[in-house]
Amino acid sequence: MPITYKIFFKILIILLCCQNSFSQSNKFKVTLDAGHGDHDYGAVHNGHIEKNITLALVLKVGKILEKSSGIEVIYTRKTDKFIDLVERANIANRADANIFVSIHCNANKNTVADGTETYVMGMSKNASNLEAAKRENSVITLEKDYKNKYEGYDPKNPESMLGMTIMQEEFIENSILLAGKIQDKFVGLGKKSRGGGVKQAPYMVLHKAYMPRVLIETGFISNVVEGNYLDSENGQDEIAQAIAEAIISYKKDNFDGGTYQEPTEKPSDRVEAITIKKSDTTKKPDSVVKKPEIKTSEIKNGITFKVQLSASSKKVALVSSNFKGLKNISSSKENTMYKYMYGETSDYENAKKLLQDAKGKGYSSAFLIAFKNGKSISVKDAINQ
Ligand SMILES: [Zn+2]
Repeated sequence: MPITYKIFFKILIILLCCQNSFSQSNKFKVTLDAGHGDHDYGAVHNGHIEKNITLALVLKVGKILEKSSGIEVIYTRKTDKFIDLVERANIANRADANIFVSIHCNANKNTVADGTETYVMGMSKNASNLEAAKRENSVITLEKDYKNKYEGYDPKNPESMLGMTIMQEEFIENSILLAGKIQDKFVGLGKKSRGGGVKQAPYMVLHKAYMPRVLIETGFISNVVEGNYLDSENGQDEIAQAIAEAIISYKKDNFDGGTYQEPTEKPSDRVEAITIKKSDTTKKPDSVVKKPEIKTSEIKNGITFKVQLSASSKKVALVSSNFKGLKNISSSKENTMYKYMYGETSDYENAKKLLQDAKGKGYSSAFLIAFKNGKSISVKDAINQ
């Protein structure tokens, strides 16, 4: 081969390589986050389990997006595993994702409540928005060492995230654009958009993701009709299609055609361990967030949950002063050990609140146990009853 041809081919190969790496880096990167996982079940109602529904939805959305050209999908989880909230955000940051989409299901004591909501990051004075954020943020109490990691942050009071006030407007415009598109698609599906659809609340998982970011409450699993829909193949297909179409449309408007501007600081430059400083302000939030009512409800299917606080060979009087002020203490004796337990409820949602109470009092290694007709069974079996 003459030398000129050799040079020609070399240049051609270099050009092809360059083009390839250019198109690689030019992909629109979507991080999909399936809420909850493993021992964090999320909301559980009528046999519907949030962590399973969110994973199914995310995998379906991802599948559609992966078929669409120019999109790369990053998953925070593709299996039933537990991931800290800050790590979910960091997965998106490390990947320099263009958007972060966290998928959840809603739940409410009022089983009539239904409809979808898409949240963007920010402070809210709306009690119902704060309630939703509080419920989702509370999963940090299931993380190891959460008190040190999220220093000063009280998951029962999302407004204790006030230290980040200055940051809350970041990415807000694009987050609202994306959230709006998602809610529009849901409305197109004939699904009720709750109170305007796009809402703002301080979600921990959104807080540390440095890109346009939304959290979708895809519907209420506490509502019989919506719960069945969310847990059905058809329902999941429809919701996933709606979310994927909204993302593709957002990409078209904000990324394609060279309109996209790289952020001055890449998300991957900003990955950091989480430390939320206690807010300087001692001002009480305007909206009063009511403490969830914890009642010993009637026993359903013979199932009860309790929180195991400790085990000891020592017999201790079951008075609250011996248990950091916790009331409703019971004990059982197994061989030579006494188990000490707090609370009793047949409702898994209440049980989780009891567990948070116990952890809040300093029982950091407390965990849930379950019984059926007085016999010990696994929590998993109890939930599936
Ligand atoms: Zn959730």
